[in-house]
Amino acid sequence: MNASPPLRVRFAPSPTGHLHIGGARTALFNWLEARHQGGSFILRIEDTDAERSTAESIQAILESLRWLGLDWDEGPYLQTQRRAFYDEAAQRLLAAGKAYRCYCSKEELEAMREAAKARGEKPRYDGRCRARSAPVPGVPPVVRFKTEAAGDTVVHDLILGEVRFNNAELDDLVIQRSDGTPTYNFAVVVDDATMGITHVIRGNDHLNNTPRQIQLYQGLGYPVPRFAHAPLILGTDKARLSKRHGATSVLAYRDLGYFPQALVNYLARLGWSHGDQEVFSLQDLIRLFSIQDVGKTASAFNPEKLLWLNGLYLRQTSMEELAREVARRLPAHGVILNGSAAEATKLRQAAAALRERSKTLEEMTTAATIYFLDEVSYDAKAERKFLVPETVGILEEVAAHVERLDELSEATLTPIFNGICEERGVKMVAIAQPVRVALTGSTVSPGIYEVMQMLGREAVLRRLRRAAALVGGRSSVQ
Ligand code: GLU
Repeated sequence: MNASPPLRVRFAPSPTGHLHIGGARTALFNWLEARHQGGSFILRIEDTDAERSTAESIQAILESLRWLGLDWDEGPYLQTQRRAFYDEAAQRLLAAGKAYRCYCSKEELEAMREAAKARGEKPRYDGRCRARSAPVPGVPPVVRFKTEAAGDTVVHDLILGEVRFNNAELDDLVIQRSDGTPTYNFAVVVDDATMGITHVIRGNDHLNNTPRQIQLYQGLGYPVPRFAHAPLILGTDKARLSKRHGATSVLAYRDLGYFPQALVNYLARLGWSHGDQEVFSLQDLIRLFSIQDVGKTASAFNPEKLLWLNGLYLRQTSMEELAREVARRLPAHGVILNGSAAEATKLRQAAAALRERSKTLEEMTTAATIYFLDEVSYDAKAERKFLVPETVGILEEVAAHVERLDELSEATLTPIFNGICEERGVKMVAIAQPVRVALTGSTVSPGIYEVMQMLGREAVLRRLRRAAALVGGRSSVQ
């Protein structure tokens, strides 16, 4: 018989910005553990910091979680709507003599800090109001928790093992500010306890809060949950992951054309592993993941590996879906779509031509624009090298042949290109590159016949002639 209660975990972001890679991994580890164990995943927004919390950030967090597919079973609960829980808990601690009102003024606290500094000690509250019996007129009090001064507080962490903290290091924590709002550590404990959270899974930047929180659980008579602190995520330079390392917000990855499954797959491997397997379906992850298997050492965020993984997911995506994604993204690139059947065919052809060559949907869309815009814009270097007087003849000759064709295909174009090569005694690339730059603006594209077929006769002729005219115009000016 299994006597332990069903697992309840939570993700508790502070809504002070976007959801970043680190937060997303914490959410994922909680979600996977809940799904693996058949438990509940609860979403709580820690918005007690009124100055830094914003409604936009809450929206961005919800949108990010939905996009990643991390559905929650309860919430979102907002701390600002749970004041009654914190008030009740603070009253209970006061009544039990486990907390007290502190009337120390700013100046007094400052002097205490200075004195500690002068003694070469860490600034800490000396507990003087524990003994103060009367209110100080004109000073609105804060409420402080009577921290246990002797012995150690031990965190039995599912990832880190036993971590011991010396209680002498902890001073009496403010749990309620003078305006009645709860402080961070207090609200977290009251929430986790009243929400029946059994496992607190979070980043190890919170480890130092844990002994304080354990003492609060004990003071309030609540069972202490299990803790699991996941190691930090670093950049490839071993510094803590930050904006310096490129895109770090989940929605930025969405906009760059990453697949949520690829990001989830990648995030799961940041600290957790299953042998040397790199590619996991969501079902695999749910089946195999266990928070206890997360390693103790920090892992490095490697954008190249994420990109590689995304390429794998992209190649597994159907042409129809890729065509839909490209169509959704094209308008942002200045392409106006008309919804015609010919356009749908072209979208599918573009997806087929670009699927093996792209790693993100955005890269694919950028490469697809040339099939949909009226004019190409030339890459400066490509233009300088390939649209020059020596190539005008080639462009004109290809155009003259294309004009006589009814249909552009590999079968009709191969003899033409081979013929020009032979006649001029040059290699294929000498013909293909100027044509490619004239047609696509760039020196890299899918196969030249494929490009020509997709563009169709009219667009090919227009682009070849425009490029030839451009070179002609340039040389007559010189
Ligand atoms: N609100 C905290 C944060 O965003 C998380 C607190 C916790 O998980 O205990 O970092």
